[in-house]
Amino acid sequence: MSLLSVDDLVVDHRTPGRPAVRAVAGASLDVAAGEVVGLVGESGCGKSTLARAVCGLTAATGGAISFEGGQVTRLGLRRRDPELTRIQMVFQDPYASLNPRRRIGAQIADGLRTAGDRETTPGGMLERVGLPAAMAGRYPHEFSGGQRQRIAIARALAARPSLLIGDEPISALDASAQAQVATLMRNLAVESGAGLLFISHDLSVVRLIADRIAVMYLGKIVETGPTAEIWAAPRHPYTQALLRAIPEPDGLGTLPEELPGDVPDPADPPSGCRFHPRCPMAMDVCAKEEPAPGPVSCWLYPPA
Ligand code: SF4
Ligand code: MG
Repeated sequence: MSLLSVDDLVVDHRTPGRPAVRAVAGASLDVAAGEVVGLVGESGCGKSTLARAVCGLTAATGGAISFEGGQVTRLGLRRRDPELTRIQMVFQDPYASLNPRRRIGAQIADGLRTAGDRETTPGGMLERVGLPAAMAGRYPHEFSGGQRQRIAIARALAARPSLLIGDEPISALDASAQAQVATLMRNLAVESGAGLLFISHDLSVVRLIADRIAVMYLGKIVETGPTAEIWAAPRHPYTQALLRAIPEPDGLGTLPEELPGDVPDPADPPSGCRFHPRCPMAMDVCAKEEPAPGPVSCWLYPPA
């Protein structure tokens, strides 16, 4: 059974006086306990909105989200459900997870209290993320970006989540800290038996830590599969384009290819397959009819 099951999720962003923007347009995704799923795609494709709907921070417009066997999406949900403390999130900006005015030890202690954990100390949690216990008395601004993200991870894990979500948790860090923080999140989530949904636009880092990858484009999941398979043989033309855009570390001098064109306006998405204006393989049917959802949502791979 899945820990998290997102089924045909739809999330509209409404601004008064403007047409609603369908940020998530029927996306399905599963995360099992102890599993690391990487959710990748360009910025603005709906990854964060999907994560926020899973946490109950954003109202869903349609579809269903179930977590630990219970339904957690009531459509129109506006407040954070108390049971959703079992889902903890680490954001791109650590200040979205940490209060700049409070000592980090006190913030980690909040998480421990949430979990009813009287044995673990904030200093003990800091050691688990590779920081000295003695730093518990300091404030967030006294740390580097990478250290702050470690503290945010310690605070999230202190609450003993069964699902940890990282929303671009490494994209503000320098290259050397990125792989370290991503690997730390993976190891600590797996060690504690939690699932990890790791959101990033950087497929080369996701590849290092994810068991499975889901590729999102303009509000839809266009391809999912085991990381090794997607890396070795991407099938959806968008996944192929994402992989070609990664700089090759092989020293052969292969230059990455830029993705053609820009992400279209989600308020006015293209007809048929949403990728068709940018797709080098587009056929007549692609502009007219939407391909069915599935492991690969593309007319090149019609369902059997
Ligand atoms: Fe390209 Fe058509 Fe597949 Fe869309 S459905 S990705 S346009 S080939
Ligand atoms: Mg985002």
